[in-house]
Amino acid sequence: MVKKENLCHEIVKLAKLIYEKGLIDAWEGNISIRNEEKEEFFITPSQNNYINLTEDKIVHMDLQGRIISKGKKPSSESKMHSLIYRNRIKVHCIIHTHSLYSTLLSIVHKKIPIIMEEQIILLGGSIDISEFKVAHTEEIGNAALIALGNKNAALLANHGTIVCGKTVEHAIKFAELTEKLAKIYWGALQIGEPHILLEKDYKDFIEDFKKNFSS
Ligand SMILES: [Zn+2]
Repeated sequence: MVKKENLCHEIVKLAKLIYEKGLIDAWEGNISIRNEEKEEFFITPSQNNYINLTEDKIVHMDLQGRIISKGKKPSSESKMHSLIYRNRIKVHCIIHTHSLYSTLLSIVHKKIPIIMEEQIILLGGSIDISEFKVAHTEEIGNAALIALGNKNAALLANHGTIVCGKTVEHAIKFAELTEKLAKIYWGALQIGEPHILLEKDYKDFIEDFKKNFSS
């Protein structure tokens, strides 16, 4: 049986790692892990500064977005997390960031087209941009779901990124990869016209994605 303490411990470890990697700043972004044995998940708290995050501050919620651990305030984007868990049944871990280059592209509403093969194998294809919706609402969650489709990463318009994975390790990798691709694409736009890969060149990789990394 998966213990609550283990999942809380895992979130704290993951949150500090993502913070140390510079993908997230204090009081920004949020991370959650699904409890596979119940219709529940665990999420980082509101106004989380990462450095002082401890297991007792992690908030336990059900998939309808109700707080199970009374007296604790979850991240303001908990509605988005619960919506994704309800609709994407293989998703085990969700990371939301305001990482710099991804957010920069989200401000100009530019999606990241397919520019590298690893993007298809790990994320499932282009990183699309959501329609703009107000933060902390069910609407931003719905917009995120649409932008994600069956893939593992999307940009949230004028906001940041949303990344999911069927394991914690996958979600970490995908959060890093999304920001790396945003930086590469931004840089490529500065020096020329990026060459977008053609479907005939990558169609086999879509099968790899479906087999190994789709969530
Ligand atoms: Zn946010």
